[in-house]
Amino acid sequence: MDTTAEQLLARVEQAHHAFEAARASLPSERERWLVAIAERLESSSDELVPLAVAETHLGEPRLRGELVRTAFQLRLLGAEIRGGGPLDVTIDRADPEWGMGPRPDIRRVNEPLGVVGVFGASNFPFAFSVIGGDSASALAAGCSVVHKAHSGHEQLAKRTADAVVEALSSAGAPAGVFALVNGEESGGMLVDHPLVQAVAFTGSTRGGRALFDRAAARSHPIPFYGELGSTNPVFVTRLAWERRGDAILREFVGSVALGTGQFCTKPGFIVVPASRGGKVDRILREAASVMPPSEMLTPRLRKSYGDSLAKLRDRPEIEVITGGAGGDKPVMTLLRTSASTICRAPEILQHEMFGPASVVVEYSDDSELVRVASLLDGQLTTTIQGEVGEDVDDLRRVLSSKSGRVLWNGWPTGVSVTYAQQHGGPYPATTASGTTSVGTSAIRRFMRPVSYQGFPDDQLPEVLRDGNPWMVERRIDGRWSGGRGA
Ligand code: NAP
Repeated sequence: MDTTAEQLLARVEQAHHAFEAARASLPSERERWLVAIAERLESSSDELVPLAVAETHLGEPRLRGELVRTAFQLRLLGAEIRGGGPLDVTIDRADPEWGMGPRPDIRRVNEPLGVVGVFGASNFPFAFSVIGGDSASALAAGCSVVHKAHSGHEQLAKRTADAVVEALSSAGAPAGVFALVNGEESGGMLVDHPLVQAVAFTGSTRGGRALFDRAAARSHPIPFYGELGSTNPVFVTRLAWERRGDAILREFVGSVALGTGQFCTKPGFIVVPASRGGKVDRILREAASVMPPSEMLTPRLRKSYGDSLAKLRDRPEIEVITGGAGGDKPVMTLLRTSASTICRAPEILQHEMFGPASVVVEYSDDSELVRVASLLDGQLTTTIQGEVGEDVDDLRRVLSSKSGRVLWNGWPTGVSVTYAQQHGGPYPATTASGTTSVGTSAIRRFMRPVSYQGFPDDQLPEVLRDGNPWMVERRIDGRWSGGRGA
């Protein structure tokens, strides 16, 4: 049932009070809250996973793996905030000899923003949903979270949120630090609410852009971290094609098939030399036939996938290698076009088909690889399939200017949760290209730096005092020192 306007206002206000009560909590306390949630998720997995299977049609092994990932992510983000890295504590002690003239004592720390509104994705009901990366990193930062449930898995969202609230309460977190709301109207009101200080969103370009515009239109605009769509093109050099072409084609189809093609990192294009004619088609058809007709996440996504596939398939310069429209359960569809077509109609490269379809782009001249790459719009990922010793500097440089993650001889579908992970990219892949929604750096999105100038030690926030009572890593007079994370 949709949340009423009164309920939404009450939940945001309670989240604000909880934020005020919790903002001085030690990083180690926040870590305890995140660990408590991880443990509760694990102990509830036999209830939550079957609910997720029923609502999303994703298989049980995949969903169990996603729950493991989600619990791991909570623990990693907890450990990260305990170490203090995201606080970015920087202390410049007073220095009468400072090069530009005497400097005062200045100490800077990242402080949590307040209530964060989180919109989860349809395709990752655990890892990018109720207590996925956005909610976990906002809680790690010291914020409160009000999560808008995705309409594709509302039962699962409710039971997951119950588990999160119980775990937080048993770990001693203030009531209201996490809450759930339902319904598109509540989602809009959440973005508008003056106590909401940032929004994180994973979903469609259309929905994300509408909410981004709404956040920007507020009398006090707020940061909007939107992870939107991407076509994740893969570029295959001629040498790699000669040495490993068959394997590359099979691995490509395997990557497209994952989750019935419903990955924001699915390779939507593969750019290959135009040389293998009938053999290429045979390999692609064989590999594609391994994916059984599969139900998609929601009827709405099935429809929008069908519409976007038809739009591309019906263009005269696009050829069908295998597949077709399909019924409720689509089969894999692979299309073909040429690099010269892409150069005439570069908008094709940005056409996302969120489902089991992809396009093979054939090039005749090696210089077309860089030319096609330079026509890309912002992407979450780009990939080079190449050979050691090849000169791919120009291609790599172009791809790094277009995407948040550039892969070498891999496939973009997996997004590991690590310290160096970058799940982001220039618009329209995201609305904030300087940030990531996966990995430990995601925490910093929900913090704001504040400098304290000239304060006596005992009147500074504890984290900035000389004795380092929070035992976090700190940069003092330009040098990193101390702390558990150092
Ligand atoms: P979606 O339709 O945009 O929905 C995402 C969430 O936003 C849902 O809770 C939805 O509410 C809400 N929403 C959308 N527009 C809204 C509006 N105008 N007002 C209020 N709430 C609004 O996304 P989706 O269903 O997950 O669609 C899949 C798309 O997401 C694909 O294009 C895919 O590429 C992208 N995606 C991106 C990533 C990434 O990391 N970049 C990850 C996964 C998916 P309702 O459910 O109530 O409609």
